[in-house]
Amino acid sequence: MRINSSNETPLQNTQEINTSKATQSSESLHQDVMRDTAIRESLKNPTSLLDHKARLSGQFERSKSDFEAKKLRQLVDEALPTTPNAAAGGAVVTTTDVTRSAAFSRLSSSQRSLINKTLSDNRNNSQLAAQFKEMIESPVFSRLSSTEKGYSLNGLAKNIGALSADILQFTQTNSYKDFNRMQKQQGQLIIGLLSADAAQNPSHNPMSRNTVLALTTGNVELGLPSKVELKREGFTDADLQGLYGFAYENTMYFNVYRPGLLDSREDMVRTAAHEINHVLNDRTNDTEYDTPERALDEYRAWYVENFAVGINPPSVDYMQGVWENFFSPNAGYDNIREVYVKDPAFRKIIDQIKTDLDNGKVTDPEAFRKSLASLIGKDPFIKNPTYLTTPGNLDNTLTTSPRRAE
Ligand SMILES: [Zn+2]
Repeated sequence: MRINSSNETPLQNTQEINTSKATQSSESLHQDVMRDTAIRESLKNPTSLLDHKARLSGQFERSKSDFEAKKLRQLVDEALPTTPNAAAGGAVVTTTDVTRSAAFSRLSSSQRSLINKTLSDNRNNSQLAAQFKEMIESPVFSRLSSTEKGYSLNGLAKNIGALSADILQFTQTNSYKDFNRMQKQQGQLIIGLLSADAAQNPSHNPMSRNTVLALTTGNVELGLPSKVELKREGFTDADLQGLYGFAYENTMYFNVYRPGLLDSREDMVRTAAHEINHVLNDRTNDTEYDTPERALDEYRAWYVENFAVGINPPSVDYMQGVWENFFSPNAGYDNIREVYVKDPAFRKIIDQIKTDLDNGKVTDPEAFRKSLASLIGKDPFIKNPTYLTTPGNLDNTLTTSPRRAE
């Protein structure tokens, strides 16, 4: 869950956080990847990008080491923004290539206008025409209803830089298929936003890209609950002012009623990365809200969401805000605060984290996890020791096979 107590400030003003630190050197990774000739050659084949992705994802799922997995993931990422045409050394796709295509002539007049206007407003973006062409010529697109085609085109038009492949792949998930019309429209805008962010910001990856893939592959389902459903979950009106999203079992939910959330790309990216991190870390006993495991699960999610906006490690100020939001008397998470109050062994670790923060040192989630693991057998508040002995998923890498609809 991503929530602030309503009167809290440090976490709301995330724009002030220094974004200059890149997460890793993508340059060295890139060079390692390019030594892999066989895969490089396969990327030159001008087959559909969705096929590339499916094939490479398959290799990725089977690969044993994390490093191999990262290399393959990087390849997928590099393959996607490039059109088959450009990858084969052909000419850049122009506006005319789109508007004179047979697929364009089959669109409704409002859909044609949307594409024309978007291309005209973004003349200097050489990738946009290719993305539109790829979308309207895709077999997946051709099977959508006219209304849904509009949603997908809108997802691309409203999020310049988004990848057609992400938006269309999302239409194949159970989440999308179960959505009503309004949710489908909103879902396509959200996927477009996340896709554009990952494609345009190398420093946000692999976290930002992994977060999109979790949703477009259906590994994590997307929930867009109505206000009635949120109330049924027990959230009050006051909660809905502070709540960004939450995770339950295999689904991440956005609170689209939080004022301004849908208009803030940073909050959307952070929230998606945060909630998907909860799902991928698979803390099985969701009902145990007052445990050290829950505190770790939240701490890690708040920490690693920074990676999705290019910050690693998070600043001392930011983590001071997280600490206050968890353990101070006006905490946004009252259950976590409760463990702190009643569990002296846990409190000792938490107080040390605070002392370290006051001295300018940030505790990373794995160090926190290991400290908590040292309490196993001694601390009756620990309900799920395995959770504390399992290394955390820190970058939203997918570890299970994609779940697909059909
Ligand atoms: Zn959370």
